[in-house]
Amino acid sequence: MAKERFEKPTGTQDVLPGAVEKWQVVEAKARELCRRFNYREIRTPLFEHTGLFERGVGETTDIVEGEMYTFKDKGDRDLALRPEGTAGVVRAYVQNKLYGEPDVSKLYYIGPMFRYERPQAGRYRQFHQFGIEAFGAVDPAIDAEVISLGYQFYIDLGLKDVRVELNSVGNAPSRAAYREKLLDFLRPMRESLCSDCQRRMERNPLRVLDCKVDQDKFGGAPSILDSLDEECTEHFAKVKGHLDVMGVEYSINPRLVRGLDYYTHTAFEYKAAGIGSIDTVGGGGRYNGLVEEIGGPDQPGIGFGIGLERILLILENQGVELEAAKPLDVYFVALGEAADLEITKQLFRLRSLGFSAERDYLGRKMKAQMKSADRMSSRYTAILGEDELNSGVIALKSMETGEQRTVKLDELAEALIQN
Ligand code: ATP
Ligand code: MG
Repeated sequence: MAKERFEKPTGTQDVLPGAVEKWQVVEAKARELCRRFNYREIRTPLFEHTGLFERGVGETTDIVEGEMYTFKDKGDRDLALRPEGTAGVVRAYVQNKLYGEPDVSKLYYIGPMFRYERPQAGRYRQFHQFGIEAFGAVDPAIDAEVISLGYQFYIDLGLKDVRVELNSVGNAPSRAAYREKLLDFLRPMRESLCSDCQRRMERNPLRVLDCKVDQDKFGGAPSILDSLDEECTEHFAKVKGHLDVMGVEYSINPRLVRGLDYYTHTAFEYKAAGIGSIDTVGGGGRYNGLVEEIGGPDQPGIGFGIGLERILLILENQGVELEAAKPLDVYFVALGEAADLEITKQLFRLRSLGFSAERDYLGRKMKAQMKSADRMSSRYTAILGEDELNSGVIALKSMETGEQRTVKLDELAEALIQN
């Protein structure tokens, strides 16, 4: 009887050799970019106490209302796979007292996130985000830096037509004023809104603007920018000023909200066409109340989360080639048993010197081995038969030019470097 076969869980992906190189390029670009901007990596657990996300992401969000993978462990603790990166990073910032450091804490992460969503192109149950968080500064220059880092990420990858949408959600007093104006606008249409929106109208009206179902009904909604007080207006103007001098282009979208109480001032999204109805590739904002909400001191923060699957999909749609994997330096072809042992020695030596090298392990004939070298786009093949072995030499063939020469076995590395 055949054994039961397993398939990957719905909404997850296997990244196979051939595709994984693209991931490596994207991740390497993110790391390199963070180095230039002086952000340092932080790695936090893939699961946290469920309460952290309820508090840190917000109880009226799509995530907490229905997308979290929650479970009880054997100790009866309520845990959740992380649905996003910020809450865990804020928790780590507080728990490890990073706020005690004299400089702004500039952190980044890359890793998997988990949300129970209906899978489609660009929407998965396990997906990956590159995100940054900067704690400890209210200076609008850092808002602009965060936005510009994400913007530069897309440019470094060669992604075309990425747009930055920008808004300010103000401070608590500005939002309270806006809340009233927004409710005046929403009340007459209450019955026509989806049940989620009706519920959110009571608890958190700003989130209504974020609804995917009722999106197009809010064209005439009042602009939050008209409710901003002086402090908020000034902060917003300065953020724009910093973006302008960097040449980072953006458009103002007054309906872009992050509706939680501790989101303040700057809110932004990165948009790019190319995956069906999905056009958001990343988003972020300032969260001056969040650190305190999670039990820390009153420290401001700002960050973004960028989805990597969506970037890869769009890069592919746009026909943008990421640098291919490096070819092999040398493929060893051994003929005969004595040569076999010498190849093992040469292979290990070259690898330890930094070359990428491979050999045959299937006992194949020379012709089949040469084909392998070809498939692996090796720059060279090094062929060792009994005669060569006895004279202490090896035949080195350039796969590019077809040119072949004999080099001393102990000068093989030098010969490879020279070319
Ligand atoms: P959406 O409106 O598409 O549901 P979101 O508002 O839930 O996005 P955020 O929580 O702001 O998204 O996450 C930031 C980024 O993470 C998104 O812009 C997207 O690129 C990516 N992302 C979010 N959810 C998923 C998912 N289920 N699968 C793949 N990528 C995702
Ligand atoms: Mg979502």
